[in-house]
Amino acid sequence: MSANSIENKSRSPAAQKLFSEFALSASGPEQFPRQEYPEIAFLGRSNVGKSSLINALLGQKGLAYTSNKPGCTQAINFYRVDNSYYFVDLPGYGYARVSKDRTLEWKKLIESYLLERQVLELSILVLDARRGWMETDLDLKRWLEVHHRPWLVVATKMDKLNQSETQQSLANLRRGADEPMLCSAVTGRGVREIWQAISKTRSNQ
Ligand code: GDP
Repeated sequence: MSANSIENKSRSPAAQKLFSEFALSASGPEQFPRQEYPEIAFLGRSNVGKSSLINALLGQKGLAYTSNKPGCTQAINFYRVDNSYYFVDLPGYGYARVSKDRTLEWKKLIESYLLERQVLELSILVLDARRGWMETDLDLKRWLEVHHRPWLVVATKMDKLNQSETQQSLANLRRGADEPMLCSAVTGRGVREIWQAISKTRSNQ
């Protein structure tokens, strides 16, 4: 399915009609913006559907870059939302066809972000519902726990599963997190619930 067909269908009524814009792209910590706004970060394996999820949440067609080429986003992208916080799209990890050096670079970049940002309020770990937890996702979740970073798990692409696959997927997903949130950038499923979770975290700060 093309990115366009997804974007056109993802404008669910639950998407927030907030002013949102691309702010900057950082390939190293020296390019991160000043820590003046709270941040919600999106993490996940390459091609998992992070950009599509960001677009679905913001109801903005094509704001975050979506592609069929896994591994092509190597920078951290900051999107300013409602002039009061950032959505932060971290580079997708775990793409088999990139070199070890490149994988290490990504790991360093992601860790420098997660370690340094005092303003990071919530990390949203995005999984592909069809694949469930992979080793790199579990590593990341453990890392977030060890560093006391608040996180929640979202399983996306639910529209690709039939009923029996959904049951299997749920059993697998629950192995790694109590209650993952289920969503689809195509149908808009879960968008409202993810916003509720974001708002809850924000109001607890
Ligand atoms: P990213 O690399 O994690 O940012 O992933 P993208 O958002 O670019 O999505 C990767 C591919 O999965 C693209 O072809 C998207 O159109 C597709 N995709 C993303 N989310 C969904 C979804 O919820 N349902 C379906 N069917 N496809 C999706």
